[in-house]
Amino acid sequence: MQYFSTRGGIAHIPFTKAVLMGLAEDGGLLLPRTIPRIGSETLSSWQNLSYSELAFEVMSRFIDDIPDSDLRNLINKSYSTFSHPEVTPLVHCGNLHILELFHGPTLAFKDIALQFLGNLFEYLLAKNDAVLNILGATSGDTGSAAIYGVRGKDRINIFILHPHQRVSPVQEKQMTTVLDDNVFNIAIRGSFDDGQAIVKKIFGDVEFKNNYALGAINSINWARVLAQVVYYVWSCLHICKHEKDTALDFAIPTGNFGDIFAGYIAKRMLPEGTIRRLVLATNSNDILSRFVNSGDYSLGTVTQTSSPSMDIQSASNFERYLYYLLDSETDRTRDQMQIFAETGKIDLSSYQDQIRRDFSALAVTEEQVIETIRDFHKEFNYVLDPHTAIGVRAARHHKKQGVPMVCLATAHPAKFGDAVRDAIGSEPETPAAFIGLLEREARCEHMDADINSIRDYLKAHARHG
Ligand SMILES: *Cc1c(COP(=O)(O)O)cnc(C)c1O
Repeated sequence: MQYFSTRGGIAHIPFTKAVLMGLAEDGGLLLPRTIPRIGSETLSSWQNLSYSELAFEVMSRFIDDIPDSDLRNLINKSYSTFSHPEVTPLVHCGNLHILELFHGPTLAFKDIALQFLGNLFEYLLAKNDAVLNILGATSGDTGSAAIYGVRGKDRINIFILHPHQRVSPVQEKQMTTVLDDNVFNIAIRGSFDDGQAIVKKIFGDVEFKNNYALGAINSINWARVLAQVVYYVWSCLHICKHEKDTALDFAIPTGNFGDIFAGYIAKRMLPEGTIRRLVLATNSNDILSRFVNSGDYSLGTVTQTSSPSMDIQSASNFERYLYYLLDSETDRTRDQMQIFAETGKIDLSSYQDQIRRDFSALAVTEEQVIETIRDFHKEFNYVLDPHTAIGVRAARHHKKQGVPMVCLATAHPAKFGDAVRDAIGSEPETPAAFIGLLEREARCEHMDADINSIRDYLKAHARHG
């Protein structure tokens, strides 16, 4: 399988090169030349596969420059860190299926992609005799999944900036109690935006970036999207086994559009009609639900909510869908992204019919999040985290009689104990991974939000080839 950029500047590169490139060099995003089709017979033959076996079947169709046995090993290793034997179990609550994606080491769905990406990076760096220094800023939630993805790995150091005392104690400890030599936590005296701005500036210095083999681990990497395609196929196999209906709907709490785009790829891979509709759920940062409901893709200002991983306005994976919407024309994609960069909006209202064939959408308010957590707990004695609650709210809104609905559960409720307490009056049960966490030994550097000090720190601790 060859990969190309949505802006046309890269035409034919193999999978491993696409992974190491991350963002395409022309500023676009990388996509596979074709989306492989899975026939119904092949799909039925996968019925009894384990999660890892299924992951191999799905992912290998997009990868032809890693030997099968190596790919199997990478996949097995990545999902052996999950605490549930089924990796992503389905739980039935009334007329909804909850797909629990939070059984990885940091209890967030990002583990599914980042456990794989960490192992894949390690493997590719060894092959190329190269090293990588990952640099990122986190507002609390995604830093730990990135750290757990690469902790203890050969040839990789990771530097994660978080705003000092502005992340929750659990979030802080999830990052700083990882004591592997290749993990560098930096608490900056400043805000998340200060951290983000420093990281962007450092990446903007191309010479520095190249000299120190700096890389990002953000959600635009194709390997992350690919790893997420697997659980859509998994859900289809498990639900269609029990229910005769072949069509399924999915509800996805959405921020950067990565997870739901994986669903879009699955929809196009599987036999026509297997996945009927993808329900896009946002919080009050609603650019994407406005896009689906009116074709208006225009930036608003970011507001803080109880679902911080979805407090996003400019969705980094959106360009991938835009390319398909614009009839797979790279010139038009590049032009529209240029317009978006200059004006902060694109008018896609003339594509309404197509958009609505792929998606439905709903923006959910803070009160509705609390209400949904409370109602769901009352009805099913099942505790939702605020992100998942947004998906469930949208799922109930768009549920169609006779079509099974799968709600993606993207975080364990214990990660967002405050919101849960507001809703049901008590904290969720502490999962094994969090017991004793706050007392565990921690390591963290405290620094001013000053680019020069951060750059010097990187120079002193970066890994060299
Ligand atoms: C990242 C994240 C999301 C949003 O996923 P995208 O791929 O960015 O759309 C939703 N919920 C949780 C808990 C997350 O961490």
